[in-house]
Amino acid sequence: MPEITVISGKGGTGKTSVAAAFAKLAPDPIVCDLDVDAPDLHLLLQPKVVEVHEFRAGRTAAISVADCTLCGDCRERCRFGAILATATGFAVDATACEGCGVCAHFCPAGAIALSPRMAGHWFRSRTDAGPMIHAQLLPGAENSGLLVSVLRREATSECARGGRDLIISDGPPGIGCPVISAISGTDVVVLVTEPTPSGLHDLERAAELCAHFARPAGVIVNKADLDEDRSAEIERLCARRGLPILARIPFEPVVVEALMAGLTMADLGNHPVADAIRHGWRNAHALAGGGRNSPASSPT
Ligand code: SF4
Ligand code: SF4
Repeated sequence: MPEITVISGKGGTGKTSVAAAFAKLAPDPIVCDLDVDAPDLHLLLQPKVVEVHEFRAGRTAAISVADCTLCGDCRERCRFGAILATATGFAVDATACEGCGVCAHFCPAGAIALSPRMAGHWFRSRTDAGPMIHAQLLPGAENSGLLVSVLRREATSECARGGRDLIISDGPPGIGCPVISAISGTDVVVLVTEPTPSGLHDLERAAELCAHFARPAGVIVNKADLDEDRSAEIERLCARRGLPILARIPFEPVVVEALMAGLTMADLGNHPVADAIRHGWRNAHALAGGGRNSPASSPT
């Protein structure tokens, strides 16, 4: 099934706005928010949660006071300083424990057990655009790459259950582990950028990541007319890397007003911004093998 993943080399380029608009334009999609560290697709799609699931990742040690002989071996071995001497014996500081298991391995009394750590929740929801799979990590929790994998697996299951064959994902920003987890095996990566110095730099890094993992990709230039010279630089970068420009979205203050009202760019009727995002969607869908026409550069 085609899976289209929208990412950007950094946050704040309009990635989620593009993903939300694609979700509205796509025929019968599963929508997935893979930006698990700072999810915000729900602000635009207003999901109604149907199921809540715990996400456990990593391990935390715990000491059985009843079994502990107070030898102190675990405290000496823990290089994270997670074992505390308290008035009632030794105890594990769960916030400092990295779950390495050294203490449990060497404890002569077998008094230490490791258990899965609660790291957040993932949700199965309904939206006007279609079913949505999303999540929320607990503050300070790690393993976001693993949670991204869980969401993608659940989105695939949801597709099979509902007889759908298209996944639209709002990926994480940057080029770290969660992004790699989000784009590995996806059919098309949509790179959203803007004509600023950091936009150009971060597009180069994200494009490099896609090339490294051999993922087909195309570019949407948001606020394209804000700096024509910088937009021309983006186009030269895309030409050099063989990346199609899927759409050029003009800068229009009405977009911010629409987003604040919970609307997407696709909801703007005959506005040039809506025309541009529809053009971008058709090109991205075609690149994913979901349309008959090859992607073409947009005149917008
Ligand atoms: S190593 Fe085991 S027995 Fe020794 S202090 Fe730690 S928990 Fe207690
Ligand atoms: S599992 Fe590792 S980090 Fe946690 S308390 Fe034991 S030795 Fe320290």
